[in-house]
Amino acid sequence: MADTAEKVPAAESSSSSAEASIAVEKTEPTTTEKKKWGDVEDDDEEEANAVSELNSLSIKEEEKHESVLEEPEDSNIKAVTSGDTPYTSASRFEDLNLSPELMKGLYVEMKFEKPSKIQAISLPMIMTPPHKHLIAQAHNGSGKTTCFVLGMLSRVDPNLREPQALCICPTRELANQNVEVLQKMGKFTGIAVEVAVPERTRGVSNMRRDAVSAQVVIGTPGTIKKWIAFKKLGLNHLKILVFDEADQMLATDGFRDDSLRIMKDIERVNPTFQVLLFSATFNETVKDFVARTVKDPNQLFVKREDLALDSVKQYKVVCPNEQTKIEVIKDQIMELGDIGQTIIFVRTKVSANKLHKALAEMGYDVTSVHGSMENEDRDKIVKEFKDCLTQVLIATDVIARGFDQQRVNLVVNYNMPTKHDSGGEPDYEVYLHRVGRAGRFGRKGAVFNLLLDDRRDIEVMEKIEKYFGAHVKEIKSWNSEEEYKIALKEAGLLDE
Ligand code: ADP
Ligand code: MG
Repeated sequence: MADTAEKVPAAESSSSSAEASIAVEKTEPTTTEKKKWGDVEDDDEEEANAVSELNSLSIKEEEKHESVLEEPEDSNIKAVTSGDTPYTSASRFEDLNLSPELMKGLYVEMKFEKPSKIQAISLPMIMTPPHKHLIAQAHNGSGKTTCFVLGMLSRVDPNLREPQALCICPTRELANQNVEVLQKMGKFTGIAVEVAVPERTRGVSNMRRDAVSAQVVIGTPGTIKKWIAFKKLGLNHLKILVFDEADQMLATDGFRDDSLRIMKDIERVNPTFQVLLFSATFNETVKDFVARTVKDPNQLFVKREDLALDSVKQYKVVCPNEQTKIEVIKDQIMELGDIGQTIIFVRTKVSANKLHKALAEMGYDVTSVHGSMENEDRDKIVKEFKDCLTQVLIATDVIARGFDQQRVNLVVNYNMPTKHDSGGEPDYEVYLHRVGRAGRFGRKGAVFNLLLDDRRDIEVMEKIEKYFGAHVKEIKSWNSEEEYKIALKEAGLLDE
């Protein structure tokens, strides 16, 4: 038993080998209909300056916490370097030549012990001259944020009060989260950061603001584009540009046009800037496009079959109708007691509201978040969940990517992820990202896919299993408490 999410094909060896570089000509983007979640309405700034107090920089041994978990050793990342710069993987943060201020941020504030695999490989590539571009794919929850946050912090000049690093994210939640990480990690450096997302209150414009003087700006593309256009964000000193969730930032149904525009604006004033592209997913189409757009990059990739997280067990349940899906959530999932936090993914804001209402009427305490909410409410709901004041969050795909909450160990797909304009084709990338909200940095987790008893849902699940070469185990009867318990025990979330 226990063949849940087992990988079918044998994993290929993944030694880091230097191979020929790719990437040459540039192409113009193709434009199709847009689906954007992050940055629908766009104004306004929000001050979020980094703390610049500089305490004593000595790092006491006892302040170095034990790392909570060890990353699995078998995270098969394949490296392809461009040119002949030699890179040595950094097995310790000490190998990276970081300032004492940054070392203190890593050990004392972040409480990290050693770099994860993607950090060990990518950080030398990011920091070593000639500062080549980097396309980096690594598993969900494997610590990609630290790669680019540390990259930005170590490359900017704290004494120059001008924007030098820019990070673009698909949603306000992710921009805010990345700002928080940077403030924490950079606490002792004196480096300031500003978040560029639409104002909390819609319709309020922030275009009367002063020009940005913070060294790092992190935000969503609409606001960043506006700040550039209105000369609030100067590009003269910009030397590093990061795309988090880069495949979405460069997809035609994501933010490709905005991203290319921003890249071109920077290139015009500063042709030698460095671009970093990070994501857990790069499908072939996006990969091809990136290869034609970003010249001579170093590259890190993971094979599709190796992307599923071993620590997160996946299950599917066929439910006779919509009502029984709600019953599964109510009778099985909500009754599990204290097993951590749960995210229930739905397809639309209408489903979010419906499910929220149904569960609230049954007396359950749930909150929900989707892109049509007021920004202020959206921020508040997410913050409450992050502060563990709430346990169950119903969400559309606004938080499918990047959202990092270590206590989330259960993900429920109330609706399966399908592409918006494709007649119900699975959205493979979104599936993987949803699953990746559980099991952060090797933690245990479980995913329940609630399928309606029609060909469509069942086919979507089958296609997803085939695409990732994973077997998702079935809960045979939707109302068998016993089966859910067995599943959760197997996932390590319930005691024997
Ligand atoms: P992703 O690769 O999905 O972007 P994140 O960067 O959000 O992953 O990191 C996932 C979690 O792992 C975060 O909570 C982060 O604090 C933690 N983490 C990252 N790097 C380390 C490390 N070197 N040691 C311990 N925990 C880490
Ligand atoms: Mg991330």
